[in-house]
Amino acid sequence: MSSQNADTNKRSATQSALEILKNYKGPSVRIMEVCGTHTHEIFRLGIRKVLPPSIRLISGPGCPVCVTPVSFIDEALLLALEHGCTICTFGDLVRVPGTTSSLQKARGAGAKVQVVYSPQDAAEYAKAHPEEQVVFLSVGFETTTPSVCIAVKTAAEEKLPNFSVLTANKTMPGAYEAMKDSTDLFLYPGHVHAIIGTSICEELAVRGVSGICAGFTASELVTALAVGVTKFERGESFFVNCYPRVVRPEGQPAAVRLVDSMMEPCDSEWRGIGEIPQSGMKLRDAYAAYDARIKFRIPKVEGRSNPACRCGDVLQGKCLPSDCKVFGKVCTPEHPVGACMVSGEGACSAFYLYGGK
Ligand code: SF4
Repeated sequence: MSSQNADTNKRSATQSALEILKNYKGPSVRIMEVCGTHTHEIFRLGIRKVLPPSIRLISGPGCPVCVTPVSFIDEALLLALEHGCTICTFGDLVRVPGTTSSLQKARGAGAKVQVVYSPQDAAEYAKAHPEEQVVFLSVGFETTTPSVCIAVKTAAEEKLPNFSVLTANKTMPGAYEAMKDSTDLFLYPGHVHAIIGTSICEELAVRGVSGICAGFTASELVTALAVGVTKFERGESFFVNCYPRVVRPEGQPAAVRLVDSMMEPCDSEWRGIGEIPQSGMKLRDAYAAYDARIKFRIPKVEGRSNPACRCGDVLQGKCLPSDCKVFGKVCTPEHPVGACMVSGEGACSAFYLYGGK
């Protein structure tokens, strides 16, 4: 098939999927996105605007920065301000408010906070600055955890004494369990299932929890949504992988094996949702020297979010960002009050940027 014909076919398939969505007459259906990139792309592409009221999209806990609890920022501040560590982090976390401050404010007060693009960059920074104790803030889902393991493995092999990680890595299956009663079907994150495969989605479907796995282009998203509502209308639970060019049933076994060899599941706190059993990952004892909590003996920290912030409700689909009384007034992307407005993948920032304000 010529590329021109392939493009024409794709456009017509997308158009058909859009028609299915626009003309949906089935029972009301709630579809939860569990991926910040899906949330932003759906807003950006204007998909919400073509859906009838009976199809309701809910932005769930799919943004890694948004679900990272306040206490994690407090721990990072403790490391920076009391232990004098250099904090290496992805950029979004710098502006996320902790209980009383943020890394951005701490940097203004003299703390060393470096923005990096990968855990490996942080390890390289540590190698180049042996006089500094460098801590990488390790957040994210199954997609980013393997790269943290590679950085720790490299540091261990090179016997880097001044590198460690503060972990808040999370795994998706626990979130699906916690959120399954808040939605009729999940729009599963394609990149997560590219790593862990689809067996969990199949298992959930057997237990009555439906979902579709989706890619990130306009065509992939509207097709997945159309497949989802069409199947939902039939009344049986299902799972459909609508992203087979990337997501294989077996996932990436090498990445899963690497993570399993270095990390183990632990209970983990999700912002606004609370602790979800066995939904986090921490370094195994063999790598304790690279675990910042152990290395610096960090005490248990109880974080407190701004009482006005409804990130927890937003992340569970209990309210829209615009239902938060400070949305777009006190809380904006320039002056975020909560993590969901900071992150480029957060529901509040998507709502603000793409017309929900
Ligand atoms: Fe929190 Fe701001 Fe979203 Fe309100 S608008 S829930 S304060 S991030």
